[in-house]
Amino acid sequence: MKILVANLGSTSLKYRLFDFSGGQERLLTRGGFERVTDYGAAIESCLAELKSGGWIQSEKDLAAVGFKPILAKGITGCVQFDERVLAAMETYNGIAPAHNPPYVNGVRIFAQKMPGTPLLGLFETAFYQGAPEAAMRYAVPDAWYQMGVRKWGYHGASHKFIAERSAEMLGREDVAERARRLYIDGGASPVKGPALRVISCHLGGSSSVTGILNGAGIGNSLGMSPQSGLPHNNRVGELDSFALPYVMRATGVSLDEAERLMCKEGGLKALSGGYNDMRDIVSQMKEGNAPARLAFEVLVHQARHWIGAYYLQLNGADAIVFTAGIGENTPELRAAVCQGLDQLGIVLDAEANAQVRAREAVVSAPGSRVKIMVIPTNEELVIAREARRFLEQHKQ
Ligand code: ADP
Repeated sequence: MKILVANLGSTSLKYRLFDFSGGQERLLTRGGFERVTDYGAAIESCLAELKSGGWIQSEKDLAAVGFKPILAKGITGCVQFDERVLAAMETYNGIAPAHNPPYVNGVRIFAQKMPGTPLLGLFETAFYQGAPEAAMRYAVPDAWYQMGVRKWGYHGASHKFIAERSAEMLGREDVAERARRLYIDGGASPVKGPALRVISCHLGGSSSVTGILNGAGIGNSLGMSPQSGLPHNNRVGELDSFALPYVMRATGVSLDEAERLMCKEGGLKALSGGYNDMRDIVSQMKEGNAPARLAFEVLVHQARHWIGAYYLQLNGADAIVFTAGIGENTPELRAAVCQGLDQLGIVLDAEANAQVRAREAVVSAPGSRVKIMVIPTNEELVIAREARRFLEQHKQ
């Protein structure tokens, strides 16, 4: 069974082709197009590449195309796209203006180009379906809540991968299986040992921290929109809601311009004086650049803030996991996040940590009660797996 996973940006199309034949999981090929102006042409080029590479004979060889949409009104989990799902996404265009409109557009073009192929979406909010209501609410008037003003939580595919993989690495097959089946049975698989408590830190171009109890999310630092929580590359992250009216009234800046500033000129870029890549921030910091150090320290502070929140909610932790571009590749940041936490049972092995970039490893000291792990995430694989489960579940 071959499943194509497509990652739709407003001007990009990236893809990976997976093969699940013979009980195996294989990435066959990957590719992508940047600066796309004609989405239909990009989809045709993608299919042409798959054919000329010998990966497929025709579109009929694709059992499904999987996508990573973020948010729709009243819909989450792994679903087949149809007009009802797309309309539910459009209802929330205002919550996710950078994500939903290009996604809906892209999926519609896929549907025209590949009318016979199931198009499946795994919503990023799915991982938090079982989170306690109290963790997901803002204290706003009910009418706002009804409009979708609540915490949704994102990066669900990545944190689900970490839930599964960390449980496997910790020898908890029962929890790994519960995590794998989460979107099929809502967490009905039994847990045979003590509760498994994992804190997953996805630190990348956008960042979030999640508490995971027995393979399921109990909340996420991203709130109503994917612009909240920790500071991101160019996006502001957490901000007191009264800052916006204050700045707008005081400076006369328009709502559109304020939104642009928060999305494109905020986050690490704003703090560091223009650097939005952790590689530059770390090298500038080492050369004594004070704003770059501040950006680093704010990210560390926010990561610790959220790790602390979930450490309490989970009644401790069995593991803290670092993943995504920054988390996988920046030993300096992992060391700063874990510094001085021995009273909580969190002790890093400094030498082991310094060696690890972009590979799985346990980097805690042998006596550390909490395991500190680095696990490269694989969101596309999660989407392909869920698409395959969806197809098997809905087999006629
Ligand atoms: P996203 O998918 O959210 O764009 P990624 O998880 O790919 O993000 O992370 C991208 C970010 O990770 C980059 O902006 C950069 O800050 C950081 N990054 C990527 N590679 C490295 C590296 N080798 N060392 C340090 N940081 C890195």
